[in-house]
Amino acid sequence: MIPGLMQDVPLLTTAILTHAETAHGRVEIVSRTVEGRIHRYDYAGLAARTRRLARALRDLGVKSGDRVASLAWNTHRHLELFYAVPGLGAVLNTVNPRLFDDQIVYVLEHAESTVLFYDRTFQPLVERLAHRFTTVKTFVLLSDADSHDPCAVGALNYETLIGAQSDAAFPWPSFDENAGAFLCYTSGTTGDPKGVLYSHRAVVIHAIAAGLASAFGLTAFDVVMPCSSLYHATAWGLPFICPINGCKLVLPAEKMDPASLQELIIGEGVTFSGGVPTIWTMYLDWLAQNGQDVGQLKRVIIGGSAVPRAMAETFKVKHGVQVLQIWGMTETCPLGVVATPTPSIAALGEDQVDDIIWTRQGRLQFGIELKIVAEDGTEAPRDGETSGALMVRGPWTIKRYFRKEEDALLDADGWFDTGDIATLDEHGFMRITDRAKDVIKTGGEWISSIDLENIAVACPGVKIAAVVGIPHPKWEERPLLVIETHEGRTVTRDEVLDYLRPRIVKWWMPDEVVFAAVPLTATGKIDKKTLRAAWSGHLI
Ligand code: ADP
Repeated sequence: MIPGLMQDVPLLTTAILTHAETAHGRVEIVSRTVEGRIHRYDYAGLAARTRRLARALRDLGVKSGDRVASLAWNTHRHLELFYAVPGLGAVLNTVNPRLFDDQIVYVLEHAESTVLFYDRTFQPLVERLAHRFTTVKTFVLLSDADSHDPCAVGALNYETLIGAQSDAAFPWPSFDENAGAFLCYTSGTTGDPKGVLYSHRAVVIHAIAAGLASAFGLTAFDVVMPCSSLYHATAWGLPFICPINGCKLVLPAEKMDPASLQELIIGEGVTFSGGVPTIWTMYLDWLAQNGQDVGQLKRVIIGGSAVPRAMAETFKVKHGVQVLQIWGMTETCPLGVVATPTPSIAALGEDQVDDIIWTRQGRLQFGIELKIVAEDGTEAPRDGETSGALMVRGPWTIKRYFRKEEDALLDADGWFDTGDIATLDEHGFMRITDRAKDVIKTGGEWISSIDLENIAVACPGVKIAAVVGIPHPKWEERPLLVIETHEGRTVTRDEVLDYLRPRIVKWWMPDEVVFAAVPLTATGKIDKKTLRAAWSGHLI
């Protein structure tokens, strides 16, 4: 080979910030604060405050490679940490505050974070656990200077800290684009949380790709409100995708309840949002109850768990909003596939397009390869029928977990097993049928818990439907359906079964329907482990 003769500029996250400041400097960033105010500035303002923060971090002794942790909501201050920490070559460990105490301690200790930035909301949590954080030397409270109260951990105040610094030009260091930038832990529903260390290179190319028309299709005309958490796989990369494309950014802090979201959707002219299905279930209910519309909202990306068809339909038919289902995971930065139309499916007619888009997780995107491996280890045909283990590969897919260097994660050809069971079809659309550990194995056949839930949730009065396989003396496992109803609604077991009967094959019929609150995990998904444990003896 002969070397190419183009500039060797590393792909670093600071390049995104610098671009946003120069190309879209006056584009607004609106953030709720934890104090309940609305904070407004623009990309130039973000860049200026990030420079102050970078200087403050240096004064605190943060060096290249160090880990700095955050326990924070979707706010402008958290966004500043997103740029300042990796910009110095250090790593931002975004801790999920919904984990259990022991898991939070595990994450901070495992990451060996030296500084912890936290929102006021987490003051009790930090005071309760601080004595167990052996590596944290400095605590910083993300709050207004005038609302800083003395606390047991002697935290510094964020505004005072950065207020003492200059926002003059800052010599952002240049370094290898493969350096670690963000350390995100999986929610650890099985075993300890595992650390996924995103490199600058992965973050930047993931953000370029996710903005493409085949994926999120964002432009400078969009007003984007991320309702997935900044601490969960960097809010699907939106903090990078938006500044690249010059989108106005609206940050809702922790206020994901429908009325608070609506205030920003209408008030700020939000055109594009994204979050897990639970948020949108509540939002659509609230719209119906209050007879409100969605303002300028045009598109919503939904992922994290399967999008109920009824949700996509209500968004489209009642509100003219296009739902784009996405699939991804912490291990893929997180974007894998996005359900956008193609000419080949458009030719099948609008009903078909809706059907495909609403019932598939998405289609192949450049930068992440997918394949399905059948039980016998061979690659499954792309026929939309044959299901198997979903494997992925590409420049923003994990290679190894952080500080688990001894565990080989990939197969000989570099594929990562996602733990999901899926099909791929001739149009390049992927459909998740289950998580490998949630699939219901009954009499040698498999039942997709996701498919059953999707149908059951459309039954009138049902808010959440969860299906788990529980031990059965004859069939190994049989499905049990747990229903949480909408507030004030009563639904009977027979109504649910009558609803299901014409819509599913007979052997898929749940052996039991129970009515209970459905527990959710730290990332807002149905907590099947807890459900299985709670109901395991029910059919014996
Ligand atoms: P955690 O496992 O920590 O909750 P992740 O975001 O990493 O968080 O979870 C990734 C998993 O979520 C995927 O492997 C898949 O099982 C599930 N998932 C994500 N998006 C979808 C979707 N659109 N439909 C069905 N399952 C999904």
